Amino acid sequence: MSDPAFSHAIPCCPTVAAIRALVGQWRQEGQTIALVPTMGALHEGHLSLVRQAKQQAKRVVVSIFVNPTQFAPNEDFSSYPRQLQRDLDLLATVGIDAVFTPDAGVMYPAGFSTTISMVGPATVGLEDASRPVFFNGVATVVAKLLIQVAPDLAIFGEKDFQQLAVIKQLVLDLDLPVTVQGGPTMREADGLAMSSRNVYLSTAERALAPRLYRSMNGVKDGIAAGQSVPSLIRAAKTELEQVGFTIDYLVLRDASTLAEWHGRSQGRLLVAAWLGKTRLIDNIGIGYVDLDGHIKE
Ligand code: AMP
Repeated sequence: MSDPAFSHAIPCCPTVAAIRALVGQWRQEGQTIALVPTMGALHEGHLSLVRQAKQQAKRVVVSIFVNPTQFAPNEDFSSYPRQLQRDLDLLATVGIDAVFTPDAGVMYPAGFSTTISMVGPATVGLEDASRPVFFNGVATVVAKLLIQVAPDLAIFGEKDFQQLAVIKQLVLDLDLPVTVQGGPTMREADGLAMSSRNVYLSTAERALAPRLYRSMNGVKDGIAAGQSVPSLIRAAKTELEQVGFTIDYLVLRDASTLAEWHGRSQGRLLVAAWLGKTRLIDNIGIGYVDLDGHIKE
């Protein structure tokens, strides 16, 4: 059942049959199961989701699969960091019950013909605008993972805020019997959101990268001080562009629908920006913002 190519203390299941056998055994014993899906190259952000899962379920499964269908041909699928042995060592320090490690042949065997195509939160002009194939790939692979592992609870990071909304909608639409929960974004000491892609940053880019979080907080503070949202966002964009970022979007959206923000709702400030060849995304909660753009606690 376990993949002998990797040495570690955690059962490693490379096939659907193997993970189902293990989960089925736990189910028979009446145990609850949580799943934390990842693409590997694990960091403290992933581990925080695992800890959150451990608090709520008896058994925790982490999946590691770099999903080819969510990458466009011009994106970083082939260079995406892959370091399974290191990931397994890290997971052993937190203590989980199984790692599900399908390869592309297991996930998409010859003749695979089904894709889940979504609108709603998947088409609000954020990640979908720059990455047209992304959410169909995410929705399809997450639906498969949820059907393969059949957990009670699945945890996803708020770091990928639109993705979290897409997955909540997917589970609702397909009546998948699982609770989806978000986990807060873990950051480096200087505020940069942890990401497997941060390793792409040069030393100079790494030094600039925390400005993204600082700028978002500047906008948040400006809104709290009663300044106009559009001019705060314009100023933040200009400041970021001047130091070398190329911005895909920096917007205030309704936190629950991700639609345009029209006031009187919880706001979420979301950003995607390039530093050299690295695309960074981040977001923060703004609180309840009224029609004039003032935050009400
Ligand atoms: P990935 O391996 O990048 O696909 O991410 C796997 C899961 O970890 C997703 O649900 C992400 O949203 C989440 N995640 C990524 N970075 C962070 C972070 N810095 N803090 C918390 N969760 C994160």
